[in-house]
Amino acid sequence: MVLADLGRKINGALKSLTAESVIDEKVLDDILREVCAALLESDVNVRLVQNLRKNIKQIVDFEELGGVVNKRRQIQKAIFDELCRLVDPGVEPYKPKKGKANVIMFVGLQGAGKTTTCTKLAHHYQRKGWKVCLIAADTYRAGAFDQLKQNATKAKIPYYGSYTENDPAVLAKEGIEKFKKEGFEIIIVDTSGRHKQEAALFEEMKQIADAANPDHYIFVMDGTIGQAADGQARAFKDAVPIGSIIMTKLDGHAKGGGAISAVAATGSPIIFIGTGEHIHDLDPFKAKPFVSKMLGMGDLGGLMETVKDMNIDKNSNIMKTLESGVFTIRAMRDQLAMISSMGPLSKVMSMMPGIPPEMAAMGEKEGGARMKKMTCMMDSMTDAELDSDAKCFTLQPTRIYRVAKGSGATVREIEEMLMQFQKFAEVIKTMGGSKGLLANMQKAQ
Ligand code: GDP
Repeated sequence: MVLADLGRKINGALKSLTAESVIDEKVLDDILREVCAALLESDVNVRLVQNLRKNIKQIVDFEELGGVVNKRRQIQKAIFDELCRLVDPGVEPYKPKKGKANVIMFVGLQGAGKTTTCTKLAHHYQRKGWKVCLIAADTYRAGAFDQLKQNATKAKIPYYGSYTENDPAVLAKEGIEKFKKEGFEIIIVDTSGRHKQEAALFEEMKQIADAANPDHYIFVMDGTIGQAADGQARAFKDAVPIGSIIMTKLDGHAKGGGAISAVAATGSPIIFIGTGEHIHDLDPFKAKPFVSKMLGMGDLGGLMETVKDMNIDKNSNIMKTLESGVFTIRAMRDQLAMISSMGPLSKVMSMMPGIPPEMAAMGEKEGGARMKKMTCMMDSMTDAELDSDAKCFTLQPTRIYRVAKGSGATVREIEEMLMQFQKFAEVIKTMGGSKGLLANMQKAQ
């Protein structure tokens, strides 16, 4: 089951709580059964699922809790918190230190995405102003050096490697010495993998580790490997002290449950997820936003980061509307315009609260066309309508006909767009209203 489906199923179970007028042990058991089945179908390790169930049952105390609303809230919170705990080992993620050479060594099986991810991570640090370089210590896979060289050249990142030296430990040592002398702050060492876990791989990894003496080990894991994740993660953890995990290929179609299991197996935090083959397809990972996003609640944190990177004008319409404290149609229109300028559509959309997963999963072309159409409808509204919370359309339905005529859309399409707006507004409300959103945006800037 892909992550979006997992989220939808869990959300479905949580929503069924709202329909219950009495909440007792049986209702909780039914919900937990659904949640656990969804997790198992997503390849989350059985032991972890059993623990989650046990923990939630312990947390929710029917004797103590008062009314239905209170019970509902408690159960929802307990499930959310436990899902977060699954992907968060509660360890402070590694932070490179300024003013010294930080050596980071990548380990993982062949094909996991190490070489690709090395450049992505180097690019990430480079954008933040660090002096970064790459070392190709993968002498096992033919073409690995060429691949790293190509990626590094494209991203303008200095690299070190050799076509003739076939001892990866020597390569790593030489490269590190050279870059240390040149004052590099982050030195990323790519190592080779094997098709499967085998003694030769771990032996080589240890030799490189001895030569490189890294400050940090990053385990790169293919996020789509399912049940094998637990064993694989344990085997690597036994060989080297893994500090963090980068999970690749979580492009939205991935099952991802295996990823969750790997965290528990290593006790190390996932720091980034790879969401595509391009250099920008690396997203910082944080447990709460990940779970929120999975449950369709949007990833505000991620959105804020993107907004921060964009340096949104503080006098822009969107900021002004948010400041006024009311989420208006105009704010939604501006959000859509902002999305178009923020990069790959599907990625930004999946971070937006209130955007239905079907729409976020649409192809670039289809999603783009739908957004254009929505914008066109909003452009046919009067200023007063744009600055409203859409109630005027309920009070005066003739407005809908006028906007439909003006924008060349059908009445049904306008109604759907207004429904979409209501969903948007609802989510914004649950996140502390537009003032809360603004506060978050300002914090991010
Ligand atoms: P390595 O053997 O561990 O160094 O793996 P590579 O970096 O060569 O990656 C193996 C394949 O996975 C390549 O085709 C990459 O383009 C692809 N890949 C790596 N990361 C991602 C990702 O996050 N998403 C997708 N879709 N593909 C990825």
